[in-house]
Amino acid sequence: MSIAENLKLIEERICAACERSGRSRGDVKLIAVSKYKPAEAVREAADAGQILFGENRVQEAQTKIPQCPPNLQWHLIGHLQSNKAKIAASGLFRMIHSVDSEKLLLALEQHTAIPLPILIQVNVSGEGSKSGCAPEEAAALIEAANNCSRVEVHGLMTIPPFTPDPEKARTHFSNLRKLRDELQEQTGTPLPELSMGMSGDFEIAIEEGSTFVRVGTDIFGERS
Ligand SMILES: *Cc1c(COP(=O)(O)O)cnc(C)c1O
Repeated sequence: MSIAENLKLIEERICAACERSGRSRGDVKLIAVSKYKPAEAVREAADAGQILFGENRVQEAQTKIPQCPPNLQWHLIGHLQSNKAKIAASGLFRMIHSVDSEKLLLALEQHTAIPLPILIQVNVSGEGSKSGCAPEEAAALIEAANNCSRVEVHGLMTIPPFTPDPEKARTHFSNLRKLRDELQEQTGTPLPELSMGMSGDFEIAIEEGSTFVRVGTDIFGERS
């Protein structure tokens, strides 16, 4: 199957999940995750109408993005170390999904010249991936972002532990949404965006309120 055909299928699956959960298609944005894939694959997706792309490593993005059409929008979705904040905040990315420490937040604030939307990555399950702050730490990070003049917090992101049964991810997604609701109340900060759901589980994430689904394999094929 071609990338264009894959995108068409994903679109149908997103529409069906929105319909099942009484959501509007416009409330869910598809990020095509092009990590480890060449610029030609990005171009193919762009030719099929895809505008929003995600990369998980700053250095890979730094070489790839200039080889891609200039009208595309890029989000950084992978773990970011503070020592790479300068490049990450240099205008490559429209949004950074993986802010999980105050140190990183302040480094991004220091290096960005323009408003920089971010999401706070939360490890809602407490297991699996070591990136993401603990749920109890999220409020302090939101307050720290509110004290920044350029970094703007737009919501939360999570990566649930891998499981072959996507239904198992549902509770982590609904926990992220509940945490978002509590944090909005507690901090008075609007947190409209929830970045959750990948190839294996994006339909469940949409049913649980996702606004950004990050899909790689189901668009571009397996990564080597
Ligand atoms: C690679 C990656 C994805 C996409 O995963 P697939 O299973 O290939 O859809 C989503 N989010 C993050 C943070 C990733 O690193």
